[in-house]
Amino acid sequence: MDSIYLDNNATTRISDEVLDAMQPYWRDHFGNPSSLHLLGQQARHAVETAREQVAALIGGVSREIVFTSGGTEADNLAILGTLAAHPKKRHIVTTAVEHVAVHDLCRRLVKQDYRVTFVAVDSQGRLDLDALRNSLDDDTALVSVMHANNETGVVFPIREIAEITTSRGVPFHTDAVQTVGRMAFDVRSLGVSAASLSAHKIHGPKGVGALYVGRGFRLRSQSVGGHQERDMRPGTENVPAIVGFGAAAELARSRRESDLSKTAALRNGFEQALCERVSCARVIGALDSRICNTTNIAFEGLEAEAILIGLSERGLCASSGSACSSGSLEPSHVLQAMGIPDPLTRGAVRFSLSRDTTESEIDRAKEVVSEVVNKLAAFSA
Ligand code: PLP
Repeated sequence: MDSIYLDNNATTRISDEVLDAMQPYWRDHFGNPSSLHLLGQQARHAVETAREQVAALIGGVSREIVFTSGGTEADNLAILGTLAAHPKKRHIVTTAVEHVAVHDLCRRLVKQDYRVTFVAVDSQGRLDLDALRNSLDDDTALVSVMHANNETGVVFPIREIAEITTSRGVPFHTDAVQTVGRMAFDVRSLGVSAASLSAHKIHGPKGVGALYVGRGFRLRSQSVGGHQERDMRPGTENVPAIVGFGAAAELARSRRESDLSKTAALRNGFEQALCERVSCARVIGALDSRICNTTNIAFEGLEAEAILIGLSERGLCASSGSACSSGSLEPSHVLQAMGIPDPLTRGAVRFSLSRDTTESEIDRAKEVVSEVVNKLAAFSA
């Protein structure tokens, strides 16, 4: 049985072109980019080419890209690095629905006597911009607001937030892990000062990401060691992974328009079919402001775990909540912050597509999901 993979917000399959680009850097071109000899310089060239490719994907320039071990490290570096660079400021503004890489770090910072404002969202997952504006004060070191939510796909108005932060002279970081390569994302026109990226969400390798650090964004390195990544992230670069990230960025850039329209059409058809075939299905999040590949559907009165097991037995991979918290029965902090009632939250399943998703897979997925869910609903009636 061929599986149907609809869990692309957790991770994506690496592209063949990406794997091919990485291959020589494991063994043949194994040099350390800091070495002055030929092998070292080959590796340096490869890293700098990848930096240009990643910068091009987001409309930046290569010196603004700091490679990290992924989105989590980029988020941590942005927040902790900013606080370290502005030691007198003790206030951070974020939202109630960030990925745990930001959310849990901010909760930890509260315990360390920082003030954190977690700006609320409404039942559609939309941000209260007035609350965000009013929360800023002279003590605010950073605003960190994600671009699109990993669980619901709801997109936040990053440009408007950047206008607010710029007018107040506050640095603005966005976690763009779910949007870069999946919708238009241009650092200059959005006006963000820092952005987190991750390769494995765009058909690149796991364990590599980047922080875009715009001009004037002050950051202190969070580890001590060599002078790599312009002193912001010491440690020998993961050359094969960085090369793969560059190749994935290049592919995402060249294919973005066609990928987006195809994925949106498949997602919309899937969602519509399920709402017609399953009476307890409710789509979560603002329909008119979502990333094109994601749908979070709550099956009222059912348990997501039972649904996911039933789907997995039929070869369909989806998830509940974020990948990091699925497997545990903890309710999603995102859906809770949206005020989604418990019987819906417990039955919420996230389906996320990618450019690899085909029409025939979606046709099968419509059947499999409606059969599994309707059977469970009949049992629990
Ligand atoms: N931020 C968001 C919005 C994510 O969805 C994820 C991963 O799911 C991350 C950060 C963490 O990225 P990584 O897995 O590269 O550490």
